Amino acid sequence: MKTSTVVAATVGVLAVTTIGYAIYFDSKRRNDPEFRRKLKKERKRAQRLAMEEAKKMSNKSAQTVEEALASIKDEDFPTSMEEREKFCMEQLSTGEALFTQGPQNYGAAAICFYKALKVYPAPAELVMVYQKTIPPDVFTVVMGMLSKDVQSKQEKYYTVFPPKETNVKAVEKPEGVAADGQKVMRRGLVTTKSFAAGQTVYSEAPVISSLDPSLEGKNFCHYCLMEIADEGSKVPCSKCTQVVFCSQSCKTSASQEFHDILCTKDSDDVSSPERSLHEDTKITRNLTPEMLAKFLVKMVHEESLNSGAEYNSFDHMERLRYLEIPPSAETEKEMELLKVALGSNIPGIDEFITEERYLLMKGRLLYNIYGISTSLDNKREVESLPERHRSTRDGPITGIGFYRLSSYLMHSCEPNAKIVFSDHDNKLSVVTTREVQSGEELVVGYIKNGTLSTEDRRLELFTKYRLQCMCPLCETTD
Ligand SMILES: [Zn+2]
Ligand SMILES: [Zn+2]
Ligand SMILES: [Zn+2]
Repeated sequence: MKTSTVVAATVGVLAVTTIGYAIYFDSKRRNDPEFRRKLKKERKRAQRLAMEEAKKMSNKSAQTVEEALASIKDEDFPTSMEEREKFCMEQLSTGEALFTQGPQNYGAAAICFYKALKVYPAPAELVMVYQKTIPPDVFTVVMGMLSKDVQSKQEKYYTVFPPKETNVKAVEKPEGVAADGQKVMRRGLVTTKSFAAGQTVYSEAPVISSLDPSLEGKNFCHYCLMEIADEGSKVPCSKCTQVVFCSQSCKTSASQEFHDILCTKDSDDVSSPERSLHEDTKITRNLTPEMLAKFLVKMVHEESLNSGAEYNSFDHMERLRYLEIPPSAETEKEMELLKVALGSNIPGIDEFITEERYLLMKGRLLYNIYGISTSLDNKREVESLPERHRSTRDGPITGIGFYRLSSYLMHSCEPNAKIVFSDHDNKLSVVTTREVQSGEELVVGYIKNGTLSTEDRRLELFTKYRLQCMCPLCETTD
């Protein structure tokens, strides 16, 4: 197993939280339970702060920011965890030494603090520490650099994603007004050309998907979720009897992406690291820990491919909306399962999966997953899965999937498109249900609304997705 991956590296750098300025943060975190709850707000605040500080900047500081960024434009940052940790520590102490020498070195000090920020695993938290510990003039320049950096990475993301051939763009749309009077914006998908009713706008394979545990090992493929009609074409796993595949290629892909690590290997010991996650999933039918385990393993795999892609699955996931999940005995147990299942295979995963990170990942997953329907028999009886998932289907849901692009599809009770699994596998297609003009937003249903009253529908949307539906149907029947 290659260990110098982003996940492993990020994990390792978490050790940095015990050094330098971070000691402050760490002790604060331990002593103050409120602080943990504030973390999320802090992250947002850090970005806002960066933007505000950047606006306040004098011409002279603006020039310093430009010069500072230019001076490190071609610099390579260390990637391995040891190097990053060492680098971060060096930058922090050099920065401090520089600013204590006086204002003439503030620019150079800011560069150091900015570089430390670049490799620090929890930058938002470090920003909060900076705010309290470094001179305001240095802080302003660091924030200016951060603001420029965040801005250019964000701006660039939506110029390369979604790819042209998907026929959609992810654009900002207004979504009501918050309590503080600020306009709330979200991203939705608008078409880049016109479609007649019944046309496919785009199709996409999931980042990860999971089969309903009650169907596992029987007639459904563990990788693409397809129903295997012909007994003879089943491909077994070479190491376990718990899963089957529809083809050799699905078996290979699954092995490479996640199954080699998550396979139970038919261990006799139910509580072994190989089996505990699998056993729990079978009993609870709760697929969240399995989905996140696959996601993390796939991330490591992606990194090992070194494909040169500018944004990895983590970058994609990071931008999505999420549900706020409060810590509970259930989430604690899930985290534990995840750590046990991955522990021996991904060094440092224990430190990586903090409670905040787990809850955020789970929240992202639950907000965005779709129910997948791959059964050839529309009347097949499958008990519904406990995870909330987007679906308007009456037919059986055989699994769930997390999709890069379709996560951006907004809900409407009067949708102009629907989700279709036309190949009876986990590949999702978005098909128009009426004529859609170029530039029109594509909207699908998140929930079945056939017999629901407007009131019930709004309640369900709000409970499940914190969504105050503003679709024509909801607005007119008010
Ligand atoms: Zn398959
Ligand atoms: Zn296996
Ligand atoms: Zn509505």
